[in-house]
Amino acid sequence: MEYHSHVENLDEDGYTQLDFSTRDIYKWPVRSEKGNQAPSSPWRPIAVALGILCLVAVVVAAVLGALGVFSGPCLPNWILHGKSCYLFSFSENSWYGSKRYCSQLGAHLLKIDNSKEFEFIERQTSSHRVNSFWIGLSRNQSEGPWFWEDGSAFTPNSFQVRNTAPQGSLLHNCVWIHGSEVYNQICNISTFSICEKEL
Ligand code: MG
Repeated sequence: MEYHSHVENLDEDGYTQLDFSTRDIYKWPVRSEKGNQAPSSPWRPIAVALGILCLVAVVVAAVLGALGVFSGPCLPNWILHGKSCYLFSFSENSWYGSKRYCSQLGAHLLKIDNSKEFEFIERQTSSHRVNSFWIGLSRNQSEGPWFWEDGSAFTPNSFQVRNTAPQGSLLHNCVWIHGSEVYNQICNISTFSICEKEL
């Protein structure tokens, strides 16, 4: 049996030399403070996967929305309400020019059929208070009855047409909406307009 005297480990000054090459040192497992919880949780990969899926869904929806794929039954820039699509046109035109413009889009100038439709329009136009929008109401002669574009007579159930014509003027034969008020006006004035298209 081989005997190693501890004297062999003494240096020339008599101090004991430490031997780090020994193989019998017990190696304690190193534990990460963070690692104790995260790797053992089964929810982490699921949460990461769900996060990635949400991100992909948001990106895809944004791209399709930008392309107008999700504009519903209405064309892009048109607003769906009830059974119609509405276009608030911000290009200025006379009443006749606006009528022609809506017609070219397969639509007509707005016809307000009931109080609900008026409230919807009013909400939109009230957010553009400085602007007036032509609607599809006109008359052939001053003081004559008002007619919608489809030939039906106007009945003042949802709103009244306020008179802006000075006495004796015969020109205020078209109608626009300004905020929540509806006025008669000279048809040749250029302003914005509202087109309506039934679904
Ligand atoms: Mg209508």
